[in-house]
Amino acid sequence: MKDWVRKLLGKDLFDAVSSLENPRHAFRTLLLTMVIAVLDLVMLGFALLHYFYTQDMPLAIASIVAALVLSVAFLYLRTTQNISNTGHFTSAAIVIFLPIYAHLNQNDQFGLFWLFVVPFLAVAFNGYKIGLAYILVYSVVIMSEAHLNIGVWEAGNWTHLSTLRLLVGLLVFTALATVLDVANEHLNRRIENQRRKEDVYLSKLKKLSTIDGLTSLYNRRHFNDVLNQKIKELKDSDLYLTFFILDIDHFKHYNDHYGHQKGDQALQSVAAVVRQFMKRHHDLVFRMGGEEFAGILVSDTPNETSEWLAQLTHEVERLKIPHSPVVKEPFLTISIGIFSAQVNDLSCINTIYKTADKALYQAKFQGRNQAVIVKPLPRS
Ligand code: GH3
Ligand code: MG
Ligand code: MG
Repeated sequence: MKDWVRKLLGKDLFDAVSSLENPRHAFRTLLLTMVIAVLDLVMLGFALLHYFYTQDMPLAIASIVAALVLSVAFLYLRTTQNISNTGHFTSAAIVIFLPIYAHLNQNDQFGLFWLFVVPFLAVAFNGYKIGLAYILVYSVVIMSEAHLNIGVWEAGNWTHLSTLRLLVGLLVFTALATVLDVANEHLNRRIENQRRKEDVYLSKLKKLSTIDGLTSLYNRRHFNDVLNQKIKELKDSDLYLTFFILDIDHFKHYNDHYGHQKGDQALQSVAAVVRQFMKRHHDLVFRMGGEEFAGILVSDTPNETSEWLAQLTHEVERLKIPHSPVVKEPFLTISIGIFSAQVNDLSCINTIYKTADKALYQAKFQGRNQAVIVKPLPRS
């Protein structure tokens, strides 16, 4: 379907209602648009009817003026999306126009029907609070007209009973419109509340699904997303991405000697040191699983960053967590593999991961408690 046809049919309005972004606003906009369009067509129809069929010129002119005013309201609403101003504009136009129309059309026994539609429109356009003010003004004008016999509806047989019927009709329609509006507000508020709650749950859940329960660092699942994202971000820049993998040395012995619970505490202490060390808020630290951690940093000085990261081995040693007696080192230590690269040199996550992992393996092989840095490739 062509774009302008979709727009004319109000596709965007239906989309807005079903997206539930702001249901109250979307629903009122849709209602207002549709009602104005229908009234506009009806007025055009009346203009033609009175001009060609009944040949009542005052009514034909009144109808065409009403149709023009409604067209302005329609265009104003569709271009500005300002439902509040359009509501006021349209309600005021109807409240002014209908008593005139009723007066011109005084022999029409269907005139009363139009009078009763007004309460519904005023509430639908403005909400019941402002709508009631319009209805009040409108009722006073219409009742005065009836009292002064200006608009003699019902084919000239206007009686006290007719006045009563007019009053009761206005009251019933006003009550009905108000109840519908209040119910609608209620429903919308519930939908909005529910949506807000769902948003909170969703963001909590999202956060939980990216965080490791033991150390509160990001987990491996988040690592894959973040690395992909960072690679995309840095693809066209001159910046370097530095990636490291860190593994606690002989942790199995630590666990065997002190038990799993102490092991968990040691993991938390190491995680806290790494987190503390990488303070810049865009530096990211992950627990990749077991006693293995990883980090991602962005810098324009890859060599300095790598050398600074290598200091992490000393930071962990400084914790002085006693290690198992079967291990050579008296305190818990770590090994690190570090790799920096300009992102456009790399084809995928695997390359970064594998290179850093190889460096870690080398650090273990060379005696542990050390960092091995893979020099970045020269700029191409
Ligand atoms: P290496 O120096 O070569 O890394 O030796 P390692 O003993 O650290 O390596 P290995 O991978 O053989 O052992 C890892 C141990 O980490 C095994 C397991 O007991 C321990 N571990 C893994 N996850 C947890 C955990 O969540 N809590 C605790 N307490 N221990 C864990
Ligand atoms: Mg280990
Ligand atoms: Mg390991």
